[in-house]
Amino acid sequence: MPSAPSSNTRLDIILLAAGTGQRFSPEASGLPKQFQKLQQKSLIAHCLDQFLSWPKCGKIILVLPPDMANDLPSEIKDALAAYTHRITIIAGGESRADSALNGLIELDRAEEKSRYVAIHDAARPRLSHCLLDALKSALDDGAEGVIPVLPVSDTIRQKISDNPMAGSRVIDRNSLMRVQTPQAFQTGRILAAHQKLANAENKASFTDDAMIAEADGAKITLITGDEALKKITYAEDLTAMRQEMSQMETRTGSGYDVHKFSDEKTGPIMICGIAIPHPKGLLAHSDGDVGLHALCDAIFGALGTGDIGHFFPPSEARWKEAASDQFLKFASDSVKKAGGRIIHLDVTLICERPKIGPYREQMKDRLAEITGLASSRISVKATTSEGLGFTGRQEGIAAMAQATLSLPATE
Ligand code: MG
Repeated sequence: MPSAPSSNTRLDIILLAAGTGQRFSPEASGLPKQFQKLQQKSLIAHCLDQFLSWPKCGKIILVLPPDMANDLPSEIKDALAAYTHRITIIAGGESRADSALNGLIELDRAEEKSRYVAIHDAARPRLSHCLLDALKSALDDGAEGVIPVLPVSDTIRQKISDNPMAGSRVIDRNSLMRVQTPQAFQTGRILAAHQKLANAENKASFTDDAMIAEADGAKITLITGDEALKKITYAEDLTAMRQEMSQMETRTGSGYDVHKFSDEKTGPIMICGIAIPHPKGLLAHSDGDVGLHALCDAIFGALGTGDIGHFFPPSEARWKEAASDQFLKFASDSVKKAGGRIIHLDVTLICERPKIGPYREQMKDRLAEITGLASSRISVKATTSEGLGFTGRQEGIAAMAQATLSLPATE
């Protein structure tokens, strides 16, 4: 048991950001995930802001990839400029354990001995002061090592072999826990454990610092982790976190489309993705589905990205007689790519003939199928124009649509 620490003891921090993120395909910038932006700040900056604004934070050692630490790329230098006077930047090693050990050695060099240290992965940017308080308080109470854990809610199966036909067995999830970082330790205890492991052949099998401390006989205390402190491993994780964190706003867009009945072609005609018998066909480059075209334009309108002709120009042969469901699928996928979702779609079909009523439910179901929305979020209405105008004279068919989207708020 260490000598009674003072509750004024500061918690030093080793922020590990030396990974290359093999499972995260880097975005256009080509930088590893810890340099990617979440709400205008890199994941590293999120962590640093949380540590630096926490009153009990001690020294901070930022461990960067070896090739960057001594020669920071200019964009990273700029991004870290606000922090450089308050942190120490060092180079990581080949493995996670090597990087953590480099951080611990750096701390050990300081004149004032480090008593407590928390080792954190920069891939977990949503750190709370509450969790830091809980880690420190466990150390104050004499814990040698303390880690945040969460229960497992999915049923967990273990493969019997790599052959998918070999079967699998269920593991009792009540005995399992998910382990997070930061993991906090009495500094001397974790430094000694890392030093002992430094030349071990099985070093790579130690995936966190608690395992290393435990292998050296340290007792690990558990505290309740934080669901918000998710780890970003894949690019999709970052997209999902951006969505969660961004303030969403509601936007609407409108769309309108007309197609002319042909004197030469016969039906059926496509309306909202359903083939409807009609004596006359429609003149169009694609299948002439006014319902789908108006809905696409409503979605593009809310996104502010242009119109259907911009994405699927009639001048391009590949869209000749194209089924328009792919256009709506594209529009709906564009909403997802923008980090948003469709709240509601409403389309009004304007024609004397064919009668829409008998097909309304089928149309709603088809639109739901194309967009992945619940049909309760889709409205299909129809009206005649009382014999007036081109629709009244049955020269063509028109559609108006509104799309309501939830999108990340922008300036
Ligand atoms: Mg059209």
